[in-house]
Amino acid sequence: MTAKMYYDEDASLEPLLGKLVAMVGYGSQGRAHALNLKDSGLDVVVGLRDGSPTSRRAQQDGLEVTSISQACERAAVVAFMLPDQHQASVYQEVILPVLGPETCLLFAHGFNIQYKLIEPPERNDVVMVGPKAPGPMLREIFEAGRGVPAVVAVQQDATGNGKATALAYAQGLGCTRAGVLETTFAEETETDLFGEQAILAGGVSALIKAGFDVLVRAGYQPETAYFECLHEMKLVVDLIQRLGISGMRRAVSDTAAYGSLTRGRRVIGPESVRIMEEILEDIRSGAFAEEWAAEGAAGAPVLKAERSLDAEHPLEEVGQRLRGLMTLTV
Ligand code: NDP
Ligand code: MG
Repeated sequence: MTAKMYYDEDASLEPLLGKLVAMVGYGSQGRAHALNLKDSGLDVVVGLRDGSPTSRRAQQDGLEVTSISQACERAAVVAFMLPDQHQASVYQEVILPVLGPETCLLFAHGFNIQYKLIEPPERNDVVMVGPKAPGPMLREIFEAGRGVPAVVAVQQDATGNGKATALAYAQGLGCTRAGVLETTFAEETETDLFGEQAILAGGVSALIKAGFDVLVRAGYQPETAYFECLHEMKLVVDLIQRLGISGMRRAVSDTAAYGSLTRGRRVIGPESVRIMEEILEDIRSGAFAEEWAAEGAAGAPVLKAERSLDAEHPLEEVGQRLRGLMTLTV
């Protein structure tokens, strides 16, 4: 099976022309979406909660700001750009009561739909446009005339226009300039959670910290440990992204190639693979979603405690000092 990709020539803004997009939330993604869509010639209104500290910023950016319910009442597309753990209550209390019969519900991540925390009426389209970049980068790359890749998915296609609407939105974000991959809510949600937990935000940071700790405990300078385990990570990952893993291996020295080929799989061995499988199983069964929903409802005590522990790791202090001393171009 070859994945289906869409580019500018496969999409059209037409399904959204003359229609209003309600951007609910103006954070990392919401701001970039609102500004990119506006610059693409689409009509956007930003919906924020009463007394929102962000309202001024959106107005200064030249956007119309109203309450969430007023924005959603008038909109053809409601874009959920709130933190995942708050989407369901805002939907239930504020959005559902004013939701029009043909309004399209659009998500940047499938969490709330996949785990049925939000169950939209059958008459509404439910789609996803998930840019594969943090919001500020989505904006910056758009302004430079390029785009970041994205995934699109259609969960409910009540009107028959679900995919065209999602592709129009993706085009408005600039993502069809780079390429948009078709997926499903289940695939996006499960792989996104797995990626961030096991590899990107979870596995990589644990690997860096473990390596740093081993070097410092063995008596090496923390500054050297920081360079070896953290700073150089980006350089290697850049090579991997450009050339693939074997391409990276050709770009490093033969010593590094030999040492890494014979040692790497001892670090990430069968035990780590088994744990990755467990992590995936918790995602697929909904156990992780249940845990995170309960954590969110309780005011995120574990997240707060773990965040402070994370920030106390000696690597943070060394890093802050070193980053201040370096002129970082790469
Ligand atoms: P943010 O945390 O940046 O969203 C902040 C916005 O949400 C603010 O405008 C804030 O309002 C509003 N908000 C927060 N809580 C509430 C609440 N209880 N009621 C009303 N408004 C609230 O979110 P992200 O941009 O990170 O994420 C949005 C979606 O995009 C998520 O589904 C996420 O998974 C997805 N996504 C995020 C990516 C990223 O890079 N961050 C990448 C790809 C997808 P106020 O201004 O009033 O505080
Ligand atoms: Mg994610």
